[in-house]
Amino acid sequence: MRLVLLGAPGAGKGTQAKKLIEKYGMPQISTGDLLRAAVGAGTELGKEAKTYMDSGNLVPDSVVLGMVEERLRQDDCKNGYILDGFPRNTAQAEALDEMLDKVGMSLDAALSVDVPLEDLMKRLTGRRTCKDCGQMYNIYFSAPATEGKCDKCGGELYQRDDDQEETIQKRLEVYTEQTAPLIDYYSGKGILKSVSGTGNIDEIFANVTATLGIS
Ligand code: AMP
Repeated sequence: MRLVLLGAPGAGKGTQAKKLIEKYGMPQISTGDLLRAAVGAGTELGKEAKTYMDSGNLVPDSVVLGMVEERLRQDDCKNGYILDGFPRNTAQAEALDEMLDKVGMSLDAALSVDVPLEDLMKRLTGRRTCKDCGQMYNIYFSAPATEGKCDKCGGELYQRDDDQEETIQKRLEVYTEQTAPLIDYYSGKGILKSVSGTGNIDEIFANVTATLGIS
């Protein structure tokens, strides 16, 4: 299955993507994760991307599209994938359609994970991630048993640089202006599905798999 996950920052796309991988083994392609890896590695691309990311703006399409195209060509993407955080605007969505057209493929679904805008600030300021295994926590809703330590592997938890209040405001604004229009874009193509992203993570996941017809 070739799937796009849509939703505001903090809607839980990454969490649901990780559960889909665990259950069905499809690779998750998160442009945010790829960019953070480039930043961490100190590459030229990473250095360029960091200024945009720290201000809550989108990294230029030229950078992101090259990265995605390269990733989609890898062997593990042959039988499908989950795109998480990509596309982020209409130009990226159109470029993705072109990339897929070229190889005679198309998307199976775009799944929107819906959370009221007013809930997102707490989800994002409370978010913590394990440095070692990537497990995510929220200090308000799903805190680890020991503060700052991962329940699964004991790794150290960190807060993303862009999960600070001022940057979050900007990211939500960018989402509303540039990414939310993709809901109409995919609805127009007849492949939009949506689920509520509020409540218990496992219940949301059950809705996700039922909505996608893979439960
Ligand atoms: P995320 O982890 O998806 O919340 O992304 C973190 C940051 O990475 C965003 O605020 C953007 O600066 C950048 N980013 C991630 N994906 C994209 C994309 N598809 N296009 C442009 N910038 C992106």
